[in-house]
Amino acid sequence: MNTIQCSVFGHAFKVSKDITAHVKEYQCKHCKKQMTTNANGNLIPLTPKFKKINSVLKSVHYKKEKRKELILDR
Ligand SMILES: [Zn+2]
Repeated sequence: MNTIQCSVFGHAFKVSKDITAHVKEYQCKHCKKQMTTNANGNLIPLTPKFKKINSVLKSVHYKKEKRKELILDR
């Protein structure tokens, strides 16, 4: 893990998981630090609490998408 690079150049976050159109989880490709966007669009550390919130968000979002598909099918 190249954490020195992070403290010099900053983290290199990549999207690790799409939660909704606005909420995503990010992981630094060097030190593996995880971040997420909250409801206000701010980047915050991905704590176990937010992991849980995101998984709920994702399932709610998924259900919404499904409903949209069903309407479109009609
Ligand atoms: Zn990093």
